[in-house]
Amino acid sequence: MLRIDSIKLPPEAGMAELAAEAARLLRMREKDILSLRLLRRSVDAREEVRLVYTVEVAVKEESAILRRARSRKISRAAQAPAYTPPSPLPAPAVPPVVVGAGPAGLFAALVLAQAGLRPILLERGRPVERRKADVERFWATGELDLTSNVQFGEGGAGAFSDGKLNTGTRDPRHRFILETLLSCGAPEDILIDAKPHVGTDYLHTVLVNLRRRLLELGTDIRFESRLADLDIRDGALRGITAEGPEGVYTLPCSHLLLCPGHSARDTFAMLHKRGVPMEAKPFAVGVRIEHRQADCDAAQYRQYAGHPGLPVSTYKLSCHLPGGRAAYSFCVCPGGEVVAAASEAERVVTNGMSEFARDKENINGGLLVNVTPEDYGGAEDPLAGIAFQRKLESAAYALGGGDYRAPA
Ligand SMILES: Cc1cc2nc3c(=O)[nH]c(=O)nc-3n(C[C@H](O)[C@H](O)[C@H](O)COP(=O)(O)OP(=O)(O)OC[C@H]3O[C@@H](n4cnc5c(N)ncnc54)[C@H](O)[C@@H]3O)c2cc1C
Repeated sequence: MLRIDSIKLPPEAGMAELAAEAARLLRMREKDILSLRLLRRSVDAREEVRLVYTVEVAVKEESAILRRARSRKISRAAQAPAYTPPSPLPAPAVPPVVVGAGPAGLFAALVLAQAGLRPILLERGRPVERRKADVERFWATGELDLTSNVQFGEGGAGAFSDGKLNTGTRDPRHRFILETLLSCGAPEDILIDAKPHVGTDYLHTVLVNLRRRLLELGTDIRFESRLADLDIRDGALRGITAEGPEGVYTLPCSHLLLCPGHSARDTFAMLHKRGVPMEAKPFAVGVRIEHRQADCDAAQYRQYAGHPGLPVSTYKLSCHLPGGRAAYSFCVCPGGEVVAAASEAERVVTNGMSEFARDKENINGGLLVNVTPEDYGGAEDPLAGIAFQRKLESAAYALGGGDYRAPA
């Protein structure tokens, strides 16, 4: 197999033009290409607006073609390092417990379940079908459900999101994650787009299918079940206390995976009280800005704005400020909407979400500035950052009129 990188074509070009360009670069007849597979697609709008492709091509007499082609874009296709999940083990008498059914907890439970360990998955919120109704009611009426909301429930904080899947890191597990999502109903484009996104609509289907797979593999999924306490004796975990629909109960436990996300403030306080080591870390705070998507497309794509061959445009901005701080855009949601994302009463948090089509009128994104533990007293108290967040969120609630609408 040969790989050709950085094939640049105008947005109107299709697969036929891509094959013709691959043949031209390989200096061979197009009909002699045995197969052509798209590996990656991105947009370069810096000068001329171009789609940039990486493809894998099967040809006869690979070495001869490689010698003859003499283009630095062409190389022998190397096998990408693949993630190998752990080999199956006998199920232990005391199963591992995973706390939280967000992306971290779901994939941790999947890997454990695939290895035959029959984990218990505790999720304080509800299954995604019921959660969707709870969240829609909150957005329509301002009636916040502390159990089931934009932060808590199956799928975690990202279940109502843009579903952006790029991380800026390289890891062989990326492919495993993308292929798992695809096998659970995510769109195929996520395997080739340089900046893949699933969208809230597809995510909900994926979550239902992933749950089915976890159940088939013997996972004991318990919704509306909150980790409430730890039983630590002689420096070792012996058990946990959970609060579920059946009431408060204890479970023997020696292997606990904590995947509670960033909003489980009561859980962090409990863990701190129980002596789990933790420290304050820098994070970022800010506001959400919203523009017309058409303006953003016009600025970036110029004469190609609105072209069906291009994805809606997005942006990334950052600047270093005098004094050492940085301000930057984050979690930009093209063709999406700003949503209320509170999980605590009388506090306002906003975020952005979009559907796979990204076809709403506006693009929105966070505009953030970094804060350090020194800004909020983190040196004295590892949970001081939460007090700092709460102060901002309460002020936003009051300023927005006290009904979970964000001040604007
Ligand atoms: C509206 C919105 C849009 C976002 N958009 C994107 C995006 O496009 N791309 C992106 O990469 N990131 C996005 N994010 C951020 C992303 O969702 C988080 O980084 C990600 O969800 C973190 O995954 P996690 O599994 O660690 O935690 P979470 O997703 O927060 O999941 C934690 C889970 O644990 C449960 N839990 C907490 N405490 C307990 C307990 N004591 N007992 C039992 N269960 C508990 C919670 O109910 C929750 O379901 C978005 C976030 C929001 C809110």
